[in-house]
Amino acid sequence: MEKKDEAKALLEKLAHTQKNAVLTLDDKTVKQADKFCVDYMKYLDSSKTEREAVSTSEQIALKAGFKRFNPDEKYSKGDRVYVNNRGKAMILAVIGSRPVKNGVRIAAAHIDSPRLDLKPNPLYEADELALFKTHYYGGIKKYQWTAIPLALHGVIVKKDQSVVSVNIGEDDGDFRFVISDLLPHLSAEQLKRTLAEGIKGEELNVLIGSRPFRSDEGSELVKLNILKILNEKYGITETDFLSAELEIVPAFKASDIGFDRSMIGSYGHDDRVCAYPALMAAVNAKNPEYTVISVLADKEEIGSEGNTGLVSRYFENFVNDLGRAEGIFGYEILRNSKCLSADVNAAFDPTFPDVAEKKNFAFINRGVVITKYTGSRGKGGTSDASAEYLGEIRAILDGAGIVWQTGELGKVDAGGGGTVAKYIAALDVDVVDVGVPVLSMHAPFEVVSKIDVYMAYKAFESFFK
Ligand code: MN
Ligand code: MN
Repeated sequence: MEKKDEAKALLEKLAHTQKNAVLTLDDKTVKQADKFCVDYMKYLDSSKTEREAVSTSEQIALKAGFKRFNPDEKYSKGDRVYVNNRGKAMILAVIGSRPVKNGVRIAAAHIDSPRLDLKPNPLYEADELALFKTHYYGGIKKYQWTAIPLALHGVIVKKDQSVVSVNIGEDDGDFRFVISDLLPHLSAEQLKRTLAEGIKGEELNVLIGSRPFRSDEGSELVKLNILKILNEKYGITETDFLSAELEIVPAFKASDIGFDRSMIGSYGHDDRVCAYPALMAAVNAKNPEYTVISVLADKEEIGSEGNTGLVSRYFENFVNDLGRAEGIFGYEILRNSKCLSADVNAAFDPTFPDVAEKKNFAFINRGVVITKYTGSRGKGGTSDASAEYLGEIRAILDGAGIVWQTGELGKVDAGGGGTVAKYIAALDVDVVDVGVPVLSMHAPFEVVSKIDVYMAYKAFESFFK
């Protein structure tokens, strides 16, 4: 009997155990998590594209007293500024009481998600149906995008340079779009394809109309009728599609999942589930010691390339501007800076246990997940966070009573992935991935735990303190 108690005490003292957060958190914290997620779900529904995420975030920031950053202005502690990078990425900062020479605290998330982009010349008619050609963006399982209601979001720049905003399929009673799939009765050949080829890229054609323009003459009258509707509604012609960014996204709204309402299903958790907590951590930062910066980046899903992705210098330029105000170089700030790369990791799925090594995999409800490294083929293409930095982060999280877990993206050689961490590390900043575990990542409808979302917020909040 005594031996048994001793073993239990020793286990508690010496072994690493990870428990469901519900078993360790008090009722009040669980309620706060649920409350935080009500607002998060609103954010999701109004931020389905990177542009919409920037505009929603900008509204939240403006309400909280943030002002557009002016590189020539001198800022003092407590000042709140933001940069809007081309409407598709954003930096928010709250100036700290220490000089920026002492370094800054950064949370870097991304606000682009896998989706289908319209091709530059998308509209066509085939056998009396009108359709849009698409080119998928980011890593998707193509078959998941057929036979679900779809919405169209984005902008069209007309010949006269005026910009038309498009948001179709989100309101009750709105029309929607769909990509058709073959009926099972006639799928004998299709079903022999591999899952990856089940639906091919050139088969992701979006159904947009079927009634012809009434005329005894002419061909492609269904397409003509669509052009007429588009011209009446938006004042555009077919050529205007060239100067447009139109994105097909699922027409679902975020909803509670489960009898216990413990989870959220939505399009685009990756990475709004980290972007929103990072945004709110900056918004709620009051007189921080170090200057805190939340980055909401674009283009992570296609390798962070382009002038709105973190391969671009726009973030470094912002830090240089901060340095200039103190008469120092940006690198003098960066080398003393610390960052949480705020991105999701995979949550363990009991239906597909084979890809996981359970001791090093994230679980729903076990809190925010620390991912020391990502990459593939022997940690290729990752920033492997140092023991010292992990020690620091662990102490911050423990000190704030935050439930956290460790996770790797799958078994060794099961696949892999990357985040913005390596681009931040390239700037001579200490960085580690910290984020939320997601079920069905990159699917049109992903699932997260409300408690994990809140733990991510608390993690960024305490990192900023
Ligand atoms: Mn991500
Ligand atoms: Mn992703």
